[in-house]
Amino acid sequence: MRCFYDPGYYLPLPPDHPFPMDKFPRAAAMLRETWPDIRLEPARPAAMEDLLRVHTRDYLDSIKDGTLAPRARQRLGLPHHPRLLHRSRLETGGTLQAARAALADGIAANLAGGTHHAFPAAGLGYCVLNDVAVAACALHSYDPGLRLAIVDTDAHQGNGTHAIFAEDSRVATYSIHVGRNYPAKKEPGDCDAPLPRYTGPDEYLAALDATLPSFLHSVEPDLVFWISGADVHEADRFGQLRLDTPSIHERDLRVCRACREVAAPLVVLYGGGYNRDRVHTARLHAQSVLVAAEVSGKTGGRVTTGSPETPNPS
Ligand SMILES: [Zn+2]
Repeated sequence: MRCFYDPGYYLPLPPDHPFPMDKFPRAAAMLRETWPDIRLEPARPAAMEDLLRVHTRDYLDSIKDGTLAPRARQRLGLPHHPRLLHRSRLETGGTLQAARAALADGIAANLAGGTHHAFPAAGLGYCVLNDVAVAACALHSYDPGLRLAIVDTDAHQGNGTHAIFAEDSRVATYSIHVGRNYPAKKEPGDCDAPLPRYTGPDEYLAALDATLPSFLHSVEPDLVFWISGADVHEADRFGQLRLDTPSIHERDLRVCRACREVAAPLVVLYGGGYNRDRVHTARLHAQSVLVAAEVSGKTGGRVTTGSPETPNPS
């Protein structure tokens, strides 16, 4: 199973910034340690031609030059950095490479990605570029008939992705998320499963079972982008759900099995994760990649690096 990664996924942020940029090198290191046969391949920055199918040139220039208006900067939630655009292009390129690898091999991962809040002319919620949208449009540029599904199990609705593909019948969007949480304004997708705040494992998994398999059977996708999301964990700062680590393992198993049931190649992506224990965010992302690999028969293994289960926040 090919996993795309580049050390440039890490970009230094101010020490008090809530985005855990260190999760990228940390999860990659955990995966290397747990899974010695992992095929890590270097990510390449997405081409401007690919970005411009989704994003406006003015927006890309404002990220590159640091000229975003203060309010737009605040909505993005990331400070200007001379490498911010390059970093986002690398991450987006990794998602496109993983999509092509999944079409060839049946499964692949980008050890990042799932930046689902980004719109064509605006970044939101730490998402600069919409990597899945860029990858989907790039695939459609040479194979317009591909049926693509985006399965988003991040705790927050994939509003940017939903909006970008609202009128495109070749891309079906699914999102299971907290109904009254960020983003305040939800965008209609093809299948939304909004949950009450602080939903626990049993109710969460029941809602997943009630919606995801039927969605996938109705779409019969040629490829699934899975934005896994580590922010469903009970100790997450922003997720507002109550899943513990074994329940997230179970979620991951059910998502991967549902995709396997419809014989859809799978691209695994991280999405968000803001655990109070920063190491645990990386551990959960690595776990999702390993579960996907296990279900596809590519490997076995469990993430064992680091501290035991994070206790409930008080
Ligand atoms: Zn999220």
